[in-house]
Amino acid sequence: MRWQWWGCVVCGIFGYVGESVHVGAAILEPLRAMEYRGYDSWGVAYTGDRNEGAVIRRVGRVAVEAAGDAEARAAIGHTRWATHGDVSERNAHPHLGANGRIALVHNGIIENVDQLRTQVLPACRMRSDTDSELLAHLVERRLRESDDVRSAVASAFALIEGTNACAVLDRATGEIVVAAHRLPIRLGKTRGALVIASDLAALSGTVETAVVVPDDVVVSLGTPDRLGVDALQLLDLAEAVQVPGFARTTRGEPGASMRAEIAEQPDVLRRIAASGDLARHAARLLSRTSRVVFTGCGSAYHAAMFTSELLQEAANGLASTAIPASELLARPALIHSGDTLVAFTQSGETADVIDAIAVARDRDATVIGVVNMEGSTVAGLVDAVVPLCAGPERSVLATKSCLAMIARGRQLVDAVTGSQACRTLEHEACRLETALGCETHRSRIGALADHLSGRQSALVVAGGAHLPVALEAALKIKEGSYLHAEAVRTGELKHGVIALIDDGYPCILLAPEGNQVSRLRIAADELASRGAAVYWMGPGAPAARDHVQHGLLTDSGSPYVQTMLGQMVALETALRRGVDPDFPRNLAKSVTVR
Ligand code: GLU
Repeated sequence: MRWQWWGCVVCGIFGYVGESVHVGAAILEPLRAMEYRGYDSWGVAYTGDRNEGAVIRRVGRVAVEAAGDAEARAAIGHTRWATHGDVSERNAHPHLGANGRIALVHNGIIENVDQLRTQVLPACRMRSDTDSELLAHLVERRLRESDDVRSAVASAFALIEGTNACAVLDRATGEIVVAAHRLPIRLGKTRGALVIASDLAALSGTVETAVVVPDDVVVSLGTPDRLGVDALQLLDLAEAVQVPGFARTTRGEPGASMRAEIAEQPDVLRRIAASGDLARHAARLLSRTSRVVFTGCGSAYHAAMFTSELLQEAANGLASTAIPASELLARPALIHSGDTLVAFTQSGETADVIDAIAVARDRDATVIGVVNMEGSTVAGLVDAVVPLCAGPERSVLATKSCLAMIARGRQLVDAVTGSQACRTLEHEACRLETALGCETHRSRIGALADHLSGRQSALVVAGGAHLPVALEAALKIKEGSYLHAEAVRTGELKHGVIALIDDGYPCILLAPEGNQVSRLRIAADELASRGAAVYWMGPGAPAARDHVQHGLLTDSGSPYVQTMLGQMVALETALRRGVDPDFPRNLAKSVTVR
């Protein structure tokens, strides 16, 4: 089975050159398809038939109507995830060179920006706080020496350090030039036009196939009247991928994507159950290793922890640990020669994960990627890929990708230990379906969300292998509703955190399957005695106390069901607090900056 997703990268770059098109429909709509990668501000620069172009920059979500009836023959657009400078119109892209001839959109971080500012352009007056503007000035400065935009971009791009991609529009001629270093820019052709985008989603519906602009090869798309020869050659020679159909982003209700993706989870589990063979090659690699290091970032890190816990509990003699990817670059000694690194990543583009893989390679470790996006950077860097098969995930809050990771993790562990537990994935899918359709669950979750939405803080309590489920629930609540939630080990409660408890303090307790609930029941009593409002998920809820009974969310101890209910609690709390959990502040779907 082969899974083909579009690659992705935080922040979106889009470019078009060719026949005259409507800016709103042909430039801003595709830009909108990328805004879930970074959505704090956006902008576009275009030139029309009579060069009557404009530059539009705005804070917030892409407004397709902002360009009115304007037509363009050349345009570049950007959705931003700020790294340098606040979220404001003046920091939004495109940035202009000193004379305004060059407009530039940029993804990434120019790591030597301070040095270039003082040594190369000391007298240059910046209009923004971004690193990106400097590149626009550098290009325009080079353009004074020779009137060739492509070589001006090439020599300016060669000066910058870091992971970067840019598209430059010469507003005088309509020529567009692109360059990329370790960030994908895709190029496609449609009738009478060339189109580029950092994400295939933006090309969907416009071109059928696309190629990747090679690293450090500066390509001119040409001008509206004369498309670039280099770009056309690249289209002929490079390996093309099919651009999948991608429904245009509709401005749905807040949380519409998250809600839909939560509801897809039974199907995701069934797909994973049906494709267990995809995990076998990786499992063979694992069985030859001395120690497994599971890694990831955010929700993927929780899936990594969960899998490591499962492997430890299986106690088959294979040592394992989970380390956040962001730790590994600074602490390479945490990986030993002969280890296997298993990297969980939805996008396959997360910079910290890519760095962790580089560290593992340096340390002679084998690397396995559990990746949702086939064709992504991580998929190309590892010894074996285990496709996640979660399908495209659009809500910034990870839901089905995280659940898919814990299921693939379970399969990997089962394949290594010869256990049959993953057969239960089918059964888990049915449990999820039941929970999704259950009116009682819905009303209990609603009551908890009502309670949480008026509070400042909450605890999610679990022990043993269930702790990652609690960490994930707490993260979802924080990300989605800006309510502080902390996951705490059952046994650690009374050693400090219990000091937080006051009247009505919400505590969600997660009990696993089996008989290991006695400590959690004691904890429930200790919390309730101090005024906490205790909500219980799992078997064995203490019956004696009314407030505990009222707070029963589910009697299922399944980590899948509990993960999903945690997501539902986060969604409902977010909506009650007026937050759109598909686009929470300060986040991006895939973080490709370090
Ligand atoms: N570093 C640039 C900025 O802060 C670009 C960020 C991005 O990739 O969107 O504006």
